[in-house]
Amino acid sequence: MPVAQPNFQGSNINLVKQHNLQAILLNLLSEPVLSRVQLARRLNLSNTTITNLIAELIEQGIVSERESAPAENGEQRPVGRPRIDICLNPDARFAVGVHIGVGVFRVGIANLRDQLLLNRMYEFDRKLPAEQVLAQIVAGVETVIQESGVEREHILGVGIGASGLVDFSTGENLLAPNLNWRNVPMRTYFQAGLGLPVVVDNNVRAMAIGEAYFGAGRGVSSLAFVYGRTGVGAGLVLDGRVFRGSSTGAGEIGHTVMLLRGGDPCHCGNSGCLETLVSEPAILRQAERIAGQKPAGLLARTLQERQDISSTERIFLAARQGDPDALRLLHESAYYLGMALANVVNLFNPELILLGGMFSQGQDLFIQPTLETVRQMSFGGLGEKVRLQPATFGWKAGVSGAAALALMQFFYQPE
Ligand SMILES: [Zn+2]
Repeated sequence: MPVAQPNFQGSNINLVKQHNLQAILLNLLSEPVLSRVQLARRLNLSNTTITNLIAELIEQGIVSERESAPAENGEQRPVGRPRIDICLNPDARFAVGVHIGVGVFRVGIANLRDQLLLNRMYEFDRKLPAEQVLAQIVAGVETVIQESGVEREHILGVGIGASGLVDFSTGENLLAPNLNWRNVPMRTYFQAGLGLPVVVDNNVRAMAIGEAYFGAGRGVSSLAFVYGRTGVGAGLVLDGRVFRGSSTGAGEIGHTVMLLRGGDPCHCGNSGCLETLVSEPAILRQAERIAGQKPAGLLARTLQERQDISSTERIFLAARQGDPDALRLLHESAYYLGMALANVVNLFNPELILLGGMFSQGQDLFIQPTLETVRQMSFGGLGEKVRLQPATFGWKAGVSGAAALALMQFFYQPE
């Protein structure tokens, strides 16, 4: 059995400098305008050190100086000396984000604030071998880079959010059952094909990174991002850092066993998993069962008549129009989700839980009942303190998250 190896490594002077530069950048990320004195105080460094570091960042074009706005609230300033602020130049560097879904991939290019300049969607044939899909993705990335007009040397790297189990250290997609992929060496392939640094992670974890550093989770030290679509997954950021577990699997909340007996079989091999109760296919399956029993009911009619919207939206619509069965179904889903989240609260005590995907689309139906269950079931009042909110990025979450993954990996917190 391997012996646990906590990080007891030392640090050399270059690493210290690197660390300090990143600390400045992270501070400017959470607060876009700061003076040298404020930075020195926050980082607990001398004014001289800050001045030297800032000079380096100015030379690289990453930050710039500007005269601050006139003082407010009677702030004391020496006469004749305007305060000089330091601010991040968001368009000094860029990152590419790629979100790989089932039969579709999206490519976007984002600036240092994770604002997307351009975002394109491409479809692919799920039956194609992985290598052909990867070749299409390389072509898609090249097109987006070209169309954006961004110079290649200003691109920090490419972040890839892939579904399934991803080994972060090797950049290999170990298993993506929906695509029938196994041990696909994504990072090696993309690095060779694009000639840019590449980082690969699970797509839900990438979305969690996007939300934590650039979205609703900014300034929060510990949060959980929970995404519901075909499956249910979670990404954890604990004490400001992404938590990946010992190998690849942290955040597989969808396979928390909720029903000990009589649950539906899950594709993972167990039965009664959260995913068999609250994923999109699971909710649709239950809604169709109800519609079969009550063919004249509002739910059945909405499911049949509103082909213009997705099946999940149809269920939400019937609930919003007051169909008691649709409401009961979603209320029960929220109960199971809340139960799983109470376990997350007991284990990790996050400050914030963000709900994405289907849960943010149906936030008016999910958030309140889910929160009630979390509060009831968490230990010792922990659930009273946790906030539950919809995620920020909506349908852009995948590609913004993948770009955020690259920004954090190659710019803000290089490991
Ligand atoms: Zn399962």
